Amino acid sequence: MNGMGDRWNMTTDIRDEDPEISQIIIKEKERQRKGLELIASENFTSKAVHQALGSCLTNKYSEGQPGQRYYGGNEFIDQIEVLCQKRALEAYGLDSEKWGVNVQPLSGSPANFAVYTALVGPHGRIMGLHLPDGGHLSHGFMTPSKKISATSVYFESFPYKVDPMTGLIDYDRLHENAKMFLPKMIVAGVSCYSRNLDYKRFREIANENDAYLMADMAHVSGLVAAGLVANPFEYCDIVTTTTHKTLRGPRSGIIFYRKGVRKVLKNGTQVMYEMERKINEAVFPGLQGGPHNHQIAGVAVALKQACTPEFKVYQQQVINNARTMCTAMQKRGYSIVTGGTDNHLILVDLRPNKIDGARGEKILEEIGIAINKNTCPGDKSALKPSGLRIGTPALTSRNLKEADFEQVVDFIDRGIKMALEIQANCGPTLKEFNAKLHEDESVKAKVAALKNDVETFALAFPLPGHEDW
Ligand SMILES: *Cc1c(COP(=O)(O)O)cnc(C)c1O
Repeated sequence: MNGMGDRWNMTTDIRDEDPEISQIIIKEKERQRKGLELIASENFTSKAVHQALGSCLTNKYSEGQPGQRYYGGNEFIDQIEVLCQKRALEAYGLDSEKWGVNVQPLSGSPANFAVYTALVGPHGRIMGLHLPDGGHLSHGFMTPSKKISATSVYFESFPYKVDPMTGLIDYDRLHENAKMFLPKMIVAGVSCYSRNLDYKRFREIANENDAYLMADMAHVSGLVAAGLVANPFEYCDIVTTTTHKTLRGPRSGIIFYRKGVRKVLKNGTQVMYEMERKINEAVFPGLQGGPHNHQIAGVAVALKQACTPEFKVYQQQVINNARTMCTAMQKRGYSIVTGGTDNHLILVDLRPNKIDGARGEKILEEIGIAINKNTCPGDKSALKPSGLRIGTPALTSRNLKEADFEQVVDFIDRGIKMALEIQANCGPTLKEFNAKLHEDESVKAKVAALKNDVETFALAFPLPGHEDW
């Protein structure tokens, strides 16, 4: 050991240096390994992505753009960011004459906020899908008593909704409302919606109001790269995404923007897009400081993987597995919002089962299955969601196939039936439900037995990523 390393503990393994943190990490890894991860926004990254994330790149400051940095020593950082940009365009088949890309946003929400900052301006108007209808917080969520998302604080947001009968986006109503609200930007993007978006229809509505159309493809960006769902690049001016959902990279965000001619006026004058400088400046120096270079390298690795035939096979399997789950749930009498799925997730409406999303989520958590409660179209309160959002990307990365997902559905069904039994034998509040779950010996034994079955099943599927510790 040299003096410095020894004195400042710079070379000690984390397990010796910080047992408290490392032991918690090891427990989390065990949780991931023994459990069934069905949260639609999660995935397992590859070992190569983990290695980029754990690299020396986290040490470097590189404010600015490649070739124009505020710090020295960025020769190799520049190469990484340029490669990441090039791969991002390639992964979506984009021509660098027509599209530009910024890979510096720290995550999906900051990417969206940067776009609004660049193009909408203070108190400019934005229309996004209502959060309880499947939209994302960052599209402008607010309640009657509170502006929840900063998007609704610094911009004026007005939501569009799904039809409560069909669960499908009500484009006609969006069309009518947009004519009155006159948004500067329409956001086409979803966090809980199992159907393809009609980008062409969004484009027509945006054009009528001279609005920008931004797609936020966070959930489906892996499926878009594989060419398996509707492609937002055909119709949108801007496309943002996270990189850690179906795309299977590290946590980060990307903004794609069009370049060149936006439209030609009747008198023949060309109106240009001019978004490149505005978006780059909104990201830095507007909202962020130094880019997270280890993340950018991890995104570059994931994008390289996204261009392989194996990635396409993976994404097709994600969809096949979601369809299998959907049919298997329906066979057991569960109601699926919109009646099916075109992508990686299903939304189960538990109202006909006479149980709510919170109790469903709770019991499944107890048996080692991670899903999340979610509002269903027509829910009266966002605080008492009546559905469960279930996604297949993560478990498909653990190599589960259709038959395995039939087994997963069986576990879920057993869990829900157990919840119904508990509910029938306790008071009406969630607190009483939880008390029964944690205190009644016979309930505890049944839960433990089912959890054991789930763990035994899960352990047969290796976890991708680092095997070191
Ligand atoms: C997940 C998600 C985001 C936000 O991503 P974070 O990285 O959590 O900030 C943005 N938009 C949509 C549609 C999402 O699903």
